[in-house]
Amino acid sequence: MPNMSQTKVPMPEQDPKVRARNFQEVTLGYTEEMAVEEATRCLNCKNKPCVSGCPVGVRIPEFIHQIAEGDFEGACEIIHTTNSLPAVCGRVCPQERQCESKCVRGIKGEPVGIGRLERFAAGYHQEHSEKPVPNGHKAAIVGGGPAGLTCAGDLAKLGYEVTVFEAFHVAGGVLMYGIPEFRLPKAIVQKEVENLKALGVKVMTNMVIGKVMSVDELMADGYEAVFVGSGAGLPRFMGIEGEGLVGVCSANEYLTRINLMKGYQEGYDTPVLQSKSVAVVGGGNVAMDAARSALRMGAEHVYIIYRRSEEEMPARREEVHHAKEEGVEFLDLNNPVKLLGDENGRVRAAVVQRMALGEPDESGRRSPVPIEGSEYELAVDTVIMSIGTSPNPLIRTTTEGLEANKRGCLVVDENMMTTKQGVYAGGDAVTGAATVILAMGAGKAAAKAMDAYMQGKTN
Ligand code: FAD
Ligand code: SF4
Repeated sequence: MPNMSQTKVPMPEQDPKVRARNFQEVTLGYTEEMAVEEATRCLNCKNKPCVSGCPVGVRIPEFIHQIAEGDFEGACEIIHTTNSLPAVCGRVCPQERQCESKCVRGIKGEPVGIGRLERFAAGYHQEHSEKPVPNGHKAAIVGGGPAGLTCAGDLAKLGYEVTVFEAFHVAGGVLMYGIPEFRLPKAIVQKEVENLKALGVKVMTNMVIGKVMSVDELMADGYEAVFVGSGAGLPRFMGIEGEGLVGVCSANEYLTRINLMKGYQEGYDTPVLQSKSVAVVGGGNVAMDAARSALRMGAEHVYIIYRRSEEEMPARREEVHHAKEEGVEFLDLNNPVKLLGDENGRVRAAVVQRMALGEPDESGRRSPVPIEGSEYELAVDTVIMSIGTSPNPLIRTTTEGLEANKRGCLVVDENMMTTKQGVYAGGDAVTGAATVILAMGAGKAAAKAMDAYMQGKTN
């Protein structure tokens, strides 16, 4: 017999007086008993009017039936067949205008609390199916890029209490601030971060380690091992005349303003250079992303200036191909030697020298040789430097006993341990700018070694 109550089971909430002073979630969610009681209000209508009100067609009566039967995991499995973000949708969808507006129970009384039940099933799944058994050890991760997040996830699965300390206001590293939305939607990255949180990983943002607190202080705070995955976000410049002019910036800065601070969207007041003619110096992925972003920001001409030939370009072939298709103009075997400014101190042109290919250098690629007297002026109002990055020195200069090589990369042994006991490192902070998958591999290897270290410590 269905439960014929005309009202929804009320949602537990924080006391208004308390919540008016905090940022924690207002609604607390149904208990198992409440969810079953609400689910038994559903009539399991044959023609499923509620489903017609749902934009993704969640199999509503079916999942509600599973909840009524006490099979909460089964309910979530049904929802997952059409909706991969039920925890989000259960909280933010306008159910009263969608599924719940069509519910026959709403004709006389309140409709079934479909959103509340969806949220319950998603929350049950997150709490029950994935959380590992705590093993009583604590580890800290400095930097929330692919290296740090991978390390965090692997340690959390082994039962460690893991906290990620991230300098920016969101985790994700280059996946959030470097690679543009049009190549990697940010919602996908954040979904991954949410999955880690569901495993129990704590993510603390706006925490610049080395400034807010040091690695040594983290260890004194009870973190038995620390992984440094702070990346290589310090841009290099060419050291040529005119680099201090207005309109000259690093690709990192340009992309961060657009990606992370949403400079590309109206309604965000992030200042970002508005340009007509842009020179991007460099031939890597970062240069392609900066050039393609500049086009999307409205530039009429975007040039890639690269001192070797296209064959030597380190960017992914697909990115070069896409950049060309979109209208980026490639000036291979060219190199800026000086930047010229106007009377307001804004860059107006680059003096560019043509190059030829000489003998292979230490990188194995044929080295560029300047052609004397071949300089010409290229009119540009923006120059974006994308000639590489190095690890930021903050961690190594604020942590006693951490050694770095002459390129500023942290030195690690075969177990990914730095020269300081209990402190591990991986990703771009160790290799210099590399790839996502290498950073993830390093995070994985470090998690394994950190586990052995922390377990050994207790034996
Ligand atoms: P990062 O991703 O740099 O993450 C480091 C994190 O540490 C950042 O979130 C940073 O804010 C944080 N941090 C730094 N210092 C501190 C501190 N003191 N305290 C707390 N947190 C700190 N690779 C590919 O494989 N394919 C591509 O297509 C590709 N495209 C790219 C495009 C761009 C624009 C860029 C910049 C890089 C690209 N890469 C690409 C390279 C790839 O993104 C990096 O190799 C990878 O992200 C490195 O991962 P990581 O975790 O070591 O460092
Ligand atoms: Fe259940 Fe309401 Fe959907 Fe009918 S319309 S199946 S009562 S949720």
